Amino acid sequence: MVHKTPIIVIGNGLTAKVMCAAMDYFNLEYTQLIPAKSDVTDSRTTTINLASQKMLSHLNLWSFSAEDSTKITEILVSQKSFGTNCFHNKSNASSLCFSLDGEPMAWTIENNSLLQSCYELNLQSPSQICVYEEALSFDFSPLSVNVRDSKGAQWQAELLIACDGAHSQARVAAGLSSTSLAARQKAVIARINLNRFHNNKAFQRFLPDGPIALMPIKAQEAALVWSATNKVADTLSKMSDSDFTYQVREKLGDGFSELTINSKRGIWPLNPSITRSMGQPGLLLAGDSSHSIHPLAGMGFNLALGDIAVICDCLDSARNNGLSFSHPSILTDYQAKRRVEVEAVIGVTQGLNRLFSHKSFQLKLLPSSLIDFGLDIMDMLPIKKQLTQIATGGVLTSASLFSDI
Ligand SMILES: Cc1cc2nc3c(=O)[nH]c(=O)nc-3n(C[C@H](O)[C@H](O)[C@H](O)COP(=O)(O)OP(=O)(O)OC[C@H]3O[C@@H](n4cnc5c(N)ncnc54)[C@H](O)[C@@H]3O)c2cc1C
Repeated sequence: MVHKTPIIVIGNGLTAKVMCAAMDYFNLEYTQLIPAKSDVTDSRTTTINLASQKMLSHLNLWSFSAEDSTKITEILVSQKSFGTNCFHNKSNASSLCFSLDGEPMAWTIENNSLLQSCYELNLQSPSQICVYEEALSFDFSPLSVNVRDSKGAQWQAELLIACDGAHSQARVAAGLSSTSLAARQKAVIARINLNRFHNNKAFQRFLPDGPIALMPIKAQEAALVWSATNKVADTLSKMSDSDFTYQVREKLGDGFSELTINSKRGIWPLNPSITRSMGQPGLLLAGDSSHSIHPLAGMGFNLALGDIAVICDCLDSARNNGLSFSHPSILTDYQAKRRVEVEAVIGVTQGLNRLFSHKSFQLKLLPSSLIDFGLDIMDMLPIKKQLTQIATGGVLTSASLFSDI
């Protein structure tokens, strides 16, 4: 039997979960397909920018206690290690300080807490969740898409929304090519006890192998994301706890001499990539299936939320105009509203990573004397204001879910 539904959503990560919550908010009927074997826990943390926080509040997905969502009021980016007064002053040479005069710029949340909020909200959803076995095959025609699993279960829809990550099966099946922005890096993640108050500051130091970043969480903790060349990251993930603690303290500097590691380490391959087209009529790519970016700016999931907000507006307007969800204007509209922001964020993250983490790339772009000046000079230029605006979100993309509540 073929299960007919207007829209199919595939994927089981954060993008798919929030996509379903947003479709419920817009009263759009859909079926979510999730693989029988899939890991629904995620020990990472995510920084959520101002625009994304508004959107999650609209969707009733922002019910975190102060303990579970930590404000970030200042971000210090440097090429040099941080001194003992880094929690109080902007004291470093070669550093760039982002702030909105004490107002929150972003929040750090636990991915598992957001997944749990989505799960609880999805329990009230009138739409269906179907579990499929093993691999899916896809058949795209101008007016519909047919999806079949290896046990013969079949679904038919006007539109497929692929939220199935950077290695999207749906994107591959549609023949949409994705360009790899090879970084040859992996990220080592861990939870840190700072053994002092973080004062809502985030820190990032660019090392020649890749950036090491600390995002504040709770009152005295931080989430560590240390990106490095594959070889260095593998070594970091396998060394003893005491050696790892030493390395983290050493790279961050005297301001962090008291920190201890209070979790197991995790390791994530980084495969930045972008797909030229964000879909085809009857198929829309959202989140990492469309663009997977380096975590150095903490923007990957924030971009996914922008995709979701715009897709919902496009589908709502198509429905109001009596169009089918496979109508080509939906893709045109979606791309027109998303392309600028996605390309701007990819350009900034790739550019910073290439400029400052030159060991990860074959080509060193500038001599180190100039690179040492880079952040200092940037601190004085108007580009810093533009970067702050892009990082807080909602500037290059407008959507009803980003509006004030
Ligand atoms: C170390 C690290 C730190 C990061 N920190 C931040 C941050 O601070 N802020 C930020 O905004 N972003 C951050 N990001 C980026 C962010 O995590 C990703 O952009 C986001 O998780 C992408 O979610 P997704 O659901 O699109 O893809 P994924 O998380 O890859 O999820 C895809 C899901 O689809 C499932 N799937 C695959 N194939 C199928 C199929 N055929 N059918 C159904 N399901 C399928 C998979 O099992 C998976 O669950 C970080 C990334 C990394 C690696």
